Amino acid sequence: MVKVTLIPGDGIGPEVTNAARLVTTATGVDIEWEVVEAGEKAIQASGSPLPDNVLDSIRRNRLALKGPITTPIGGGFRSVNVALRQQLDLYASVRPARAIAGEGTRFPETDLIVVREATEGLYSGVEHWVDREHSAAETVNVITRKASDRIVRFAFELAKREKRRKVTAVHKANIMKTTGALFQTAFREMAAKYPEIPSEERLVDNMAMQLVKRPSEYDVIVTTNLFGDILSDLCAGLAGGLGIAPGALYGESIAVFEPVHGSAPKYAGQDKANPVAEILCLELLLRHLGKTEAAERVYRAVWQTIAEKKVVTYDLALPGYTNRPVAPSTCSAMAKEIARKVPLVDLRAPRPAPSASGTWGAPDPSLEGA
Ligand code: NAD
Repeated sequence: MVKVTLIPGDGIGPEVTNAARLVTTATGVDIEWEVVEAGEKAIQASGSPLPDNVLDSIRRNRLALKGPITTPIGGGFRSVNVALRQQLDLYASVRPARAIAGEGTRFPETDLIVVREATEGLYSGVEHWVDREHSAAETVNVITRKASDRIVRFAFELAKREKRRKVTAVHKANIMKTTGALFQTAFREMAAKYPEIPSEERLVDNMAMQLVKRPSEYDVIVTTNLFGDILSDLCAGLAGGLGIAPGALYGESIAVFEPVHGSAPKYAGQDKANPVAEILCLELLLRHLGKTEAAERVYRAVWQTIAEKKVVTYDLALPGYTNRPVAPSTCSAMAKEIARKVPLVDLRAPRPAPSASGTWGAPDPSLEGA
């Protein structure tokens, strides 16, 4: 049995994390969920959106599955997500963007991984008003050599382990002459240590254009916090939308799995959201645990459910997003269908494309067989 922290989160979070729990049961992997609240429910209960018991639970279990958490725009609390990443030093945000069964995408071959530095940059939280009138404000873009080195090393190690084609660094060093150049130098020096892995650089604006024109030219993308946040949503869109985009956050000894999407408040409580992103977070968690067969079952059950398109949520059913519009199903119905398929998956059948194996982050050998 392995104990994993579960943060249901806000908005659609409880619905999609329930879906992931249902699928976990279908895998037969013995996970005990330690449920803790962060976000709006935690504010009501304790006055803090990120109470100490949440951080304690994750530090103890070293593994968490998380739903999205709302961050109100403007005043009030700092982002729980940013605080969580900084306090647990979850420096590597890994967001695989895989098209599934060619649905919801013009680029069915899309198979990208965005590796985003998640503790500093323009999300450092160092910001202030310049004057009393609030007519000017500054946000400090903190880039350190230490954080740049470890994120680019993470990207090259991931590329090596996953046998990926190349690593592309994304920055804006032509305009940001100090912070951009520091990240660029860290990347160039690290690239020299991995001569067997092709590497290249792109300016972020050009990268956005290149990605929407020719996503298959890219593979592993490594970048700073804000650029990574934006590009990973863009890549999720290329692959089929936020509803199918999982993510993982890795620190030195802690991993937290959370979808790319947010709490989508307008769909909260409607049993409407796509549960696949959260279910694929479970897949990544199982791979991290060394439960490769269970993870593979989850991925293939998701793939088959989307390919069949009998039980899919609204985002995969609408005309314009698919060549074969169908009546949309609910979040819970799609989760049940995926769970039903998990034990029926034929693991001897060839893996459906894109066929990247995907340990994605840093599988933790100490958890093997837990
Ligand atoms: P969002 O990702 O919540 O929603 C954007 C749109 O994407 C939705 O309106 C919906 O159309 C679609 N969508 C998102 N998830 C979906 C799903 N599972 N199934 C189907 N469609 C889905 O982004 P937002 O509206 O910019 O943010 C809402 C809140 O979420 C904000 O408070 C934001 O700060 C927070 N947020 C949290 C996280 C996180 O917890 N990691 C990430 C992003 C945003």
